[in-house]
Amino acid sequence: MQNAYQKMDTAELKAAIAELEREVEETRAKELKLDMARGKPSPEQVNISRPMLDILTSDADLMDEGVDCSNYGCFEGIPSARRLAGEFIGVPPEQTIVLGSSSLNIMQSILIHYWEKGVPGYTPWSKLDHVKFLCPAPGYDRHFGITQDLGIENVPVRMTETGPDMDEVERLLAEDDSIKGMFCVPKYSNPTGVTYSEETVRRLATCKAAPDFRIVWDNAYAVHDLTDDGDKLANIFDIAREAGNEDRILGVASTSKITFPGAGIAFFGSSPANVVEVANTLKVGLISANKLNQLMHTRFLPDLDAVHEHMRKHAEFLRPRFDAVERKLSEGLGGTGCATWTHPNGGYFVSFDGPEGSAKRIAALCAELGVKLTPAGATWPYGNDPHDTNIRIAPTYPSVDELEAALDVLVLATKLVSAQLALE
Ligand code: PLP
Repeated sequence: MQNAYQKMDTAELKAAIAELEREVEETRAKELKLDMARGKPSPEQVNISRPMLDILTSDADLMDEGVDCSNYGCFEGIPSARRLAGEFIGVPPEQTIVLGSSSLNIMQSILIHYWEKGVPGYTPWSKLDHVKFLCPAPGYDRHFGITQDLGIENVPVRMTETGPDMDEVERLLAEDDSIKGMFCVPKYSNPTGVTYSEETVRRLATCKAAPDFRIVWDNAYAVHDLTDDGDKLANIFDIAREAGNEDRILGVASTSKITFPGAGIAFFGSSPANVVEVANTLKVGLISANKLNQLMHTRFLPDLDAVHEHMRKHAEFLRPRFDAVERKLSEGLGGTGCATWTHPNGGYFVSFDGPEGSAKRIAALCAELGVKLTPAGATWPYGNDPHDTNIRIAPTYPSVDELEAALDVLVLATKLVSAQLALE
């Protein structure tokens, strides 16, 4: 399918480019300074959680169901926090560990552990000639960074509207047992916003793979719905257990985008055997996590109902921003054939695709015009987007006015680059 510029004859195209270049110069003169790169909550959103800070005063009761949160002990996490972790991840509380503030840190610790010591009963990954990880793409660059840092080869698998391309995943896993893991953000995936279908979840939990193959099930956006009618995700742990694969799934989540990014609480949940094994390793380097932070969190958000109620307040800030993205992109690019973008029901991102070979040029032009985007290519392993189309839009941090101004620039840059490509 040709886009609007590809359909023009040369004279029309040159005239369109001249007009777009004039608009670019007008925009340049505005000396904008806008940022659509940051996947973090706005300051107003973060303020919603400030009442939590008043909970632990000097005279507060610091006991949690018999556990003294003011002293060492209870490595796996305080009872109320493990109960919450269980609800988040979809496993019983005994199958969870509540650690520091970062789920990324948990993922890295576990993968380094398998790298050094191996999945119990199997060769350490570091001793194997070749180790690969499947990376649904577009995906989360920090995931890809953990494995890249270890020297694991990141293998992209294309994301579809129902999750990773499962035919491709199954084909790769069946023929290559050097694939030892896979990253998944199963709900409101970063950056596509896709929630994996039940069939995708089932195939991931049951497909044939190396016995020490592990899925990092990063449910970072488990409760981040924009409306009360959010996407539903099947429980992969139940399906994996029935299939005899319960050790395959390594669940993580955190309250980073619920309370305070960098100062929330982070959860790990998996099979009983994995939880014991991971705890035994992590205990070597940690006597106990910050239990006062855990206590403050569970007094503020005692259960999943309280979390959903809290997330409704976040959604009040997020909805107008996601609406602005949809409106500006539809008005500016709808019907031109120059771009497609996702329409998520939650999460933190919209994934945008321009014509082949356009993303780096669009991002560079936006930067010239004062709009910072996540670097083009960052959503693919090694920063290598094979068709150079994808841009991650992070609409949560700027104000709606700033966001609209930034989207106008993205629309203009997409049109000009599309027109230039049509002429080349
Ligand atoms: N996982 C995903 C998919 C994310 O998008 C993010 C943050 O953007 C994180 C993990 C980071 O979480 P944490 O703050 O718990 O390390």
